[in-house]
Amino acid sequence: MARYQAAVRRAVAAEQPDLLDRAEHCSADGEALAPIGRTLGHQVRLQWEPPGQAGRSAVALYTISELRTETPAGVVRMGSAGRHRISPQVPSPPFEVSVESVVARRHLDDATAARLGEFVERLRDDGSHRGLIVIAPHGGDIERHTDAQARQVADRLADHAVSSWSCLGFDQEPGDAYRRFHITSNDLHAASFPELGAVIGRGFRYAVAFHGFRGEGVLVGGAAPFRLRAAIAAALEEVLDGTGQPVRIAGPDDVLGGSNPSNVVNRLTANGRSGVQLEQGMRAREQFGEAIADAVARVFAIRLTRPPVPPSRASIPVSIPASRPTFPSASIPARLRQWWSDRRQPPGR
Ligand SMILES: [Zn+2]
Repeated sequence: MARYQAAVRRAVAAEQPDLLDRAEHCSADGEALAPIGRTLGHQVRLQWEPPGQAGRSAVALYTISELRTETPAGVVRMGSAGRHRISPQVPSPPFEVSVESVVARRHLDDATAARLGEFVERLRDDGSHRGLIVIAPHGGDIERHTDAQARQVADRLADHAVSSWSCLGFDQEPGDAYRRFHITSNDLHAASFPELGAVIGRGFRYAVAFHGFRGEGVLVGGAAPFRLRAAIAAALEEVLDGTGQPVRIAGPDDVLGGSNPSNVVNRLTANGRSGVQLEQGMRAREQFGEAIADAVARVFAIRLTRPPVPPSRASIPVSIPASRPTFPSASIPARLRQWWSDRRQPPGR
């Protein structure tokens, strides 16, 4: 793992509105980042040692949303919400942090990660198939039950070509995992998540993501064709019938619709347009999480036994970048998205 020491400073209000709006984002100097192998769009892990509390370091993940020349180069800038993302106890800036290139602690087992309030990344994959990948980017305590759902779908479909990828972030203080570890699906960069990096270019026929939101029931989104999303919604309606849990298919204007080509669930698919994203309320996950996962598995079991559409008849593939290369600085839709996301968080963990 590579790292450097940096001073956290305030965002420059007039020039960095994106940092004021988005707690997950920070700016850093490209010259300081290069030696640790990080650059624009990557994620880094920041570690802060509270004074007088050796060994009780606070950790949070951030996306480098802007490269900014600093003097000295070891400066990281963020808004107030970004600074408090690492800990509510951080002092007024500047304060010292360690900037680390490796975001997940892969060597920890889940129980140890939970005990330490840590963040881990998991992949189950045979290294070659291109069928279905089931993902939970915000598992553990970030969006509870979602990693178990992803695992369950992979288990149910073990006879087919299925992989699963999950990130699990755990509370250090009660309820802080979402604040410290949530990286939005559009930003997740394969360079910072080696297990994701192993599959991001594979070109899966299907991908499905399990998430949690503050709403009720299940929102079936993603860039996948309406027909597939409708089939999943119908299967979910069947198992949730009479439970009071609504099932809705996301429309093009749904803020949590997951249809953005930058969304990791879409990037994982061969044509960039075959991801399915499930946003689920807390009660849906808690009480019906297994039934939901089984219903999703049944829909894909049927599809995975059919041969893929031959290339001549398939829709024309589009080139989707492995990650979003640049960040529009506070475009209106981004700010609207953040406004919405601020109001839905934490997602009823
Ligand atoms: Zn999520």
